[in-house]
Amino acid sequence: MNETTFDVIVIGAGPGGYVAAIRCAQLGLKTACVDRWTAQDDAPSLGGTCLNVGCIPSKALLESSERFEAIRHQADSHGIETGSVVINVEKMQARKRQIVSELTGGIAALFKANKIAFIAGHGQLMKAGHVRVTLHDGTGQDLAARHVILASGSVPVSLPGMEIDNKRIFDSSGALEFSEVPKTLGIIGAGVIGLELGSVWRRLGASVTILEAQDTLLPSADPMIAREAKKQFGQQGLDIRLSCKVSRVETTDKGCHIHYEMPDGAESIEVERLVVAVGRRPSSDGLLDDGCGVQVDDKGFVPVDASGATAVAGVWAIGDLVRGPMLAHKASEEGVAVAEQIASGSGHIDHDYIPWVIYTHPEIAWVGASESDLKSSQTPFNSGIFPFAASGRAKAVGDTIGFVKILSHGQTDRILGVHMIGPQTSELINEATFAMAMEASAEDLARTVHAHPTFSEAVHEAALGTARRAIHKANR
Ligand code: FAD
Ligand code: NAD
Repeated sequence: MNETTFDVIVIGAGPGGYVAAIRCAQLGLKTACVDRWTAQDDAPSLGGTCLNVGCIPSKALLESSERFEAIRHQADSHGIETGSVVINVEKMQARKRQIVSELTGGIAALFKANKIAFIAGHGQLMKAGHVRVTLHDGTGQDLAARHVILASGSVPVSLPGMEIDNKRIFDSSGALEFSEVPKTLGIIGAGVIGLELGSVWRRLGASVTILEAQDTLLPSADPMIAREAKKQFGQQGLDIRLSCKVSRVETTDKGCHIHYEMPDGAESIEVERLVVAVGRRPSSDGLLDDGCGVQVDDKGFVPVDASGATAVAGVWAIGDLVRGPMLAHKASEEGVAVAEQIASGSGHIDHDYIPWVIYTHPEIAWVGASESDLKSSQTPFNSGIFPFAASGRAKAVGDTIGFVKILSHGQTDRILGVHMIGPQTSELINEATFAMAMEASAEDLARTVHAHPTFSEAVHEAALGTARRAIHKANR
């Protein structure tokens, strides 16, 4: 086999890999990107989990279902009279597919514009600088490069005895594809996927029960936010059962019979469909030849240093395949940083300032340390909290649930963490992340003029609140 030579080969075209490839090409490096052919679409899968079966399709369904719920339950208060409101699931799904196809097509166009060679097939690192690609037709192609970036992402974790058949038991990809609203839906795992997809199908009419092993919801969120989230989801009708150990699932003609243990005894429920959403694991099956020198750790992650370098010179790894949160923006920024490392020897991502967003209603977002983190590290802090109920914009919109909470250092006033639950917090969190990345103090945010009336005034008021000088709230 003849080897084709590049400066950089990227394995994986998810938000980590495709962004790394584009940045490499921008920096003048001759770049190839390899991703598997998907028999399902009979087309190359650009955009990875995020565009095909993750961030984008889930947000499309969250938007459709939120509008459906708003029209049914909120239109009346605005004086909007509607007849009966029905959801056409087929049309909703077609809209989602169109969005995915436009975005994945956009990456193909960007690859072309940046002269990136896209090779559809399964990539395997043979040794430093050498990648073997198994093409769709089973033939092989050998590629060589000075640098290889591993960006093969992650796949859902499965549970023993709960085989995904996409008829009764589904993973997150299957749960994005339902062609009708199930009457009853069980979800194992009250993590990000359980809450987002549980919200979609509940809003559309399913009775949703979420079975969660841990005794708290969202353990990595600030405890105040997690408590408010639990209260809100409960009021919406999401039945979340904590401290629940699923022991067995039987599939029946009508669906699934789930047996589980609660602290006060055994229980069971029957559901039409069951979604298993208990986390994701790094995807490294068939990625690393035994002799390539790169090994995975006991959880399947490829170990990397702060710059994304693996133990083998010239081999880098990014995104869900490596330590840190499994988030698209983290994968992309690591892709940029590694490309810059390769081109110039410097490139950086600050892992302390990676925002989290959960796109439920209310939206939940945070960046930096939580109150429990600061208490356990005995860091002195001030806290400013501002409720959306006191925001003019939130009142006008009719979306007043939730609050913004800012934690700043007790002595230096530097912002250490920002936590939000409420309207538009997926957007508001970016101001907070920027402020923290610029090492801003709460005073800096408090002295920045915020337009009125906007949701972001809640961020301004919470910053003022750290010094007990919020204007539209009594300071105690
Ligand atoms: P991936 O996106 O998983 O891409 C890896 C690519 O590598 C895939 O295309 C795969 O085909 C390819 N590949 C794997 N092995 C090989 C091989 N050997 N050869 C060739 N190609 C290979 N994150 C957010 O930040 N925001 C969200 O709103 C969000 N929502 C999500 C919703 C759902 C339902 C799910 C499942 C995930 C969501 N995520 C979200 C997480 C996000 O999708 C991932 O963090 C992100 O896609 C990781 O990017 P990546 O490039 O590391 O890997
Ligand atoms: P997760 O880690 O967020 O949540 C999994 C949940 O399942 C946890 O609460 C865990 O305690 C629970 N669990 C594990 N085993 C269990 C068992 N046997 N029985 C009952 N509960 C069990 O994982 P996820 O929801 O599958 O999502 C995977 C990842 O995808 C997320 O961590 C995140 O990185 C990414 N994602 C991000 C977004 C976003 O940014 N908005 C959306 C979806 C997914």
